[in-house]
Parts: sequence; structure tokens; C-alpha cells
Amino acid sequence: MPASRAYAAREARAPLAPFQIERREPGPHDVLIDIAYCGLCHSDIHQARDEWGGAIFPMVPGHEIVGTVAATGGDVTRWNIGDTVGVGVFVDSCRECDACMAGDEQYCEPGASFTYNSREQDGVTATHGGYSERITVDEAYVLRIPHGLDLAAAAPLLCAGITTYSPLRHFGVRAGDRCAVVGLGGLGHMGVKFLRAFGAETTVVSHSPDKRDDALRLGADDFIATGDRDVFRDNENRFDFILDTVAAKHAYGDYLKMLRRDGTMVLVGLPDGASPLDAGRLAEMRRRLAGSVIGGIAETQEMLDLCSERGVTADVEMIGIQQVNEAFERVLRSDVRYRFVIDMDTLRRG
Ligand code: NAP
Ligand code: ZN
Ligand code: ZN
Repeated sequence: MPASRAYAAREARAPLAPFQIERREPGPHDVLIDIAYCGLCHSDIHQARDEWGGAIFPMVPGHEIVGTVAATGGDVTRWNIGDTVGVGVFVDSCRECDACMAGDEQYCEPGASFTYNSREQDGVTATHGGYSERITVDEAYVLRIPHGLDLAAAAPLLCAGITTYSPLRHFGVRAGDRCAVVGLGGLGHMGVKFLRAFGAETTVVSHSPDKRDDALRLGADDFIATGDRDVFRDNENRFDFILDTVAAKHAYGDYLKMLRRDGTMVLVGLPDGASPLDAGRLAEMRRRLAGSVIGGIAETQEMLDLCSERGVTADVEMIGIQQVNEAFERVLRSDVRYRFVIDMDTLRRG
């Protein structure tokens, strides 16, 4: 079996440390991928700290994977050795339920196999993610990284990209819509770039006033700093659509008040524990509150192809795997501009 150096959390809140895993020998429909880069998503932190419950340890996080096909199983038709490919947040699903048949594999009813902290479809084998040298994945769950995209800057598209793109498509955001992104982190900065690509009028709502210039540079038309609570009243009934990417608990009602009549707020941020919600904030303007999880395989490929056409990638800060624990701390302080990406050669060099 292909051995793979990796970094793992041995238990909740333990710092990540070097760890060895075995990847499965490629089966007939598998490809073995040499990982070049892996993005660092806030979900990696939530899960390595077991903030969502039920975590499986030891855990090798990472679900924004790009690399090169190193070997293919005998029946693989879609990929050749040397292809530049990506792997996102899930690596398999039942392929039979309504969600899978609709191309919404992330909502697989019996349960998708997520890239790490999850089980393969056999229900037994633990999955391990991209903070590692290589990964074996079924060919149907592999994405093509179009030529011309910078590989490191494309890695975050596999989670931060699709997670912000999918709800804009699903909820029908159109050119000229008045939209807001709450939280300018990894997801938020991709949300701004996609809203700009969609032609929406975009405002960033942030608890970090020093991110104003970046927000405007990334394509936002306006910036609201939430330090002064008056801003919630001043911006009441302003937006058609709000994308909430905040990773920490917060009162949804404050942000809901900024929606116009029949406006929609979509939660993609997944804080641990429940956040308070006042029914009145929804009812008074017939507002809608929804949630969304990543996107399906076909939709992720559509997003990657659009990013290639439009030159959209993440703003990244490259780190070596040895800096991963420090990077976790910086993400927790909202001090990332705007996605850490791990150069996996630093793992190979030891
Ligand atoms: P991130 O880079 O840490 O960005 C989150 C942003 O939230 C921060 O940059 C900060 O923006 C804001 N924020 C943080 N603490 C806050 C607080 N106490 N009050 C108000 N705002 C705060 O994280 P990410 O990787 O973008 O992920 C964001 C969330 O989405 C995480 O919960 C993650 O697990 C979740 N997620 C969900 C999906 C999905 O499919 N639904 C996929 C990926 C990630 P400002 O400094 O601008 O305020
Ligand atoms: Zn993620
Ligand atoms: Zn399914």
C-alpha cells in the first residue's frame, strides 16, 4: 500500500504532528494523486478540535487538495497519469439516493464519505485528508483543474470557492442585486469575488475595521464595520441577499434586519453550538433564512471552469506544513489574508 507522510491531530485540541498513513492501492476505478498543495479551511480547525462532536482520531485534516495523477486503476477512463486534479470536501457517496442522482452528492441521504474525519462507504475505513503526500480517490470524485489556473491559488476553490459559489447559483443571485458578505475570511473573500463576477452590488460586513481597503480591492462596493452597533440600524432593509460566513457564534437577528422584504440570508459559516434566532426578525419582512453546504461534483467542475475563464482564484499565504499549528491560531484571530495554503513539498523534505 502506498505509504504517505502526513500531519495529524492525535486527539481533540492536540497540536498537529507528523504521522504516517497508508493509502489504499488504487482499485479499478481509483486514482492515486501526489498532493502539491492543500488549503487550510476553518472547518479543519473546528474538526481537529472536535467542536462539532463525534470526531475520529487520529485525524489528518485537509479538503482543498490539488495535485497530479501518479497512478490509475485498470478501468479508469477519465484520468491519465500527469493530469492536474483536485479533491474537495467529499471522496464518495452512495450514488443512488435522490440527492446523489440530482448531483447534490454533498447531501447524500445515507451519508457522503467526507475527505477526512469520516468513513468510506464501507462504513468502517476512516478517511484522511490532504495534509499528506498522496491520496487515493475514486475517479468520479476527482475534479479537473483547468490549465492556466495558479495551482496553489486554485486549491481553496475546492472548498471556499464552491461553498460560496453554490448558494449564489442556487438562490439565483443576479446582476444588480444588493448583496452582502458577512465575514471577510477564506470563504468571505471568495464570496466577494464571485458576487463581483455575477455583477452584484457587494458590501462586506466585518468585525475587523482594518479589512476595509482589502474588501474594496477584492471588488466590494462598500464596507460596514460592525464595531459600532448603530450600523445595524443604519443599514436596515438594505440587502436582497446576505451570505453569512462567520465561524463564531453571533446573533443572526442583527444581520437579518439588514435584509429587505423577501430577502434571503444563507448561512455557510458553521459555528459550534447554537446561535440565537428571534422569529420576529424573519416574520416582519417575510425574510428567509437558509443554509448551504459546499456543492456537488458537477457544480464544482462548473465553478472551476468559470474561475479559469474569469481568472478567479484565492488570495493565498503559502506556508510549510511545519507552520500549520501557528496558522490555526492566526485563523482563529481572523488574521489570514485570505487563505493559508500548505506547500506539501515541505512534508516531503521532512
Ligand atoms: P475564516 O477564514 O476564519 O473566516 C471567518 C471570518 O468570520 C473571519 O475572517 C472573520 O471575518 C469572521 N469572524 C470570526 N470571528 C468572528 C466573531 N467573533 N464575530 C464576527 N465575525 C467573526 O474561516 P473560513 O474558512 O472562511 O470558514 C468560515 C466558516 O464556514 C467556518 O465555520 C467553516 O467551518 C464554515 N465552512 C462551511 C462550509 C459549508 O459547506 N457550509 C464550507 C467551508 C467552511 P471579519 O474579520 O471580516 O469579521
Ligand atoms: Zn472547508
Ligand atoms: Zn447518496
